Amino acid sequence: MSTRIPHYMIVGGGITGLSAAFYLKKRLESAGAPFRISVVEKSPTFGGKIHTIEREGFVIEKGPDSFLARKRPIIDLAYDLGLEHELTGTNPGAKKTYIVRQGKLHRMPPGLVLGIPTQMTPFMKTGLISPLGKMRAALDLILPKRDLSTDESLGHFLERRLGKEVLQRIVEPLLAGIYAGDTFKLSLKATFPQFRAMEQKHRSLILGMMASRKNVSEESAHLPSAVRNSVFVTFKKGLQTLVSGLEVALKTVDLRNGVGVVSVRKMGQHQAEVIFEDGHSEMVDGVILTTPTYQAAQMLADLPAANQLKTIDYISVANVIMAFDRKDIPFELDASGFLVPKTEGRTITACTLTSAKWLHTAPDGKVLLRCYIGRAGEQEWPEWSDEQLVSKARHDLRELLGLKAEPLFTDVTRLMHSMPQYPVGHLEQIAQFREELTAAMPQVLIVGAGFHGVGLPDCIRQGKEAAWQLADLIQN
Ligand code: FAD
Repeated sequence: MSTRIPHYMIVGGGITGLSAAFYLKKRLESAGAPFRISVVEKSPTFGGKIHTIEREGFVIEKGPDSFLARKRPIIDLAYDLGLEHELTGTNPGAKKTYIVRQGKLHRMPPGLVLGIPTQMTPFMKTGLISPLGKMRAALDLILPKRDLSTDESLGHFLERRLGKEVLQRIVEPLLAGIYAGDTFKLSLKATFPQFRAMEQKHRSLILGMMASRKNVSEESAHLPSAVRNSVFVTFKKGLQTLVSGLEVALKTVDLRNGVGVVSVRKMGQHQAEVIFEDGHSEMVDGVILTTPTYQAAQMLADLPAANQLKTIDYISVANVIMAFDRKDIPFELDASGFLVPKTEGRTITACTLTSAKWLHTAPDGKVLLRCYIGRAGEQEWPEWSDEQLVSKARHDLRELLGLKAEPLFTDVTRLMHSMPQYPVGHLEQIAQFREELTAAMPQVLIVGAGFHGVGLPDCIRQGKEAAWQLADLIQN
């Protein structure tokens, strides 16, 4: 009788890969049979885009900074890891958000959800949209729904429902924080399927969004009481808490960092061969790939369908963190930040008043700001030095906020090819790719931010689903 222990490998140690390993371990342990899991990560640390640092008493996020509280998978994972007490919500005293229009900050009208008005009175009063633009947006209430079986672009959809002004001046800058993309190239079905469903069910996007707001209290029932009133949630010591929690929970798993995979090939009926950068290879009984799609495409180069993965473009973004003394700040810290539409022609796309939004991020008497740079059509910034990035961000802050003081320190993060852009038809293309992958290599699964949702909760959900799929495959 063979005593070989089945070996499963997760490639990529970002949040998707670590979640996949966590849930695979959990499932296989409950089945009782022996197994081995390895997570292989190319860079020296785990966590992928998640990267928290502590400096002079500040908690600084260099990648993602929070997540949508209503999305269950990340809250469930926090409970699974015993970290629910570490969750914290946004400062209730900084609920406002501003949008720049012709060089001035305008308060975003209350009641906007993802830029869609759910309260008409404040929307009708805003100086962000012209009277004609408001009338055009209100047409959404009477325009017929369009029956569509095929995908369309997010920009096209929003423009036909709410008009160009709402799209350019409110929704696009808001969504830029999630995709940094050209809305006319992004797939509606893959990015905001709920918008499409609202149109189909309620005919109007505004009416659909108003109806969905009624369920908000039910949606937050799963949250620990301390964060029940917050739309966004994070961990008191930063998102690294989640990564460290996963590393602890995976201490019996073979966690390998600084190890890059170059290729994954089918071997026989039930195995795959994983080839590493140092030339060695290992035979495994199942693989979950969780790297960005352009890297996965290289690993699966033997599979013709992998070419489809190359059609998913990734935008590069940078962020500039700046710390200040509170006394040097010439404006109220009563908002979470402001957004800058593309039409404003500035370097920064947004600025978070981080220490106002998240009270745990700065020591008393200090202020932390985070400026975002780079979006679709604005990809020249990688040529600029860190000093230039800081200087351009400071120039915008000086003109928009009157902030002239010298920062106590700055920190620049370059996230090259980091934001996947789901093209129109993405879901169909991915379904076809998966069909071909399963036919050729059933023991190789592939998930992550490049596939079905870029947010942290969606990445965790995908990791968990892949783990369960692999466990089902093994156990049947
Ligand atoms: P990654 O984090 O990219 O992990 C993939 C891993 O694979 C990496 O660690 C990489 O080193 C490794 N890898 C690559 N090639 C190889 C190889 N050949 N061999 C082995 N390993 C390899 N989401 C939110 O919910 N909230 C936010 O506030 C938020 N803000 C964001 C801000 C920025 C600037 C960015 C870029 C993203 C943000 N996101 C946010 C999105 C979210 O952070 C990402 O979608 C998510 O972290 C991706 O996780 P992942 O595990 O799928 O991929």
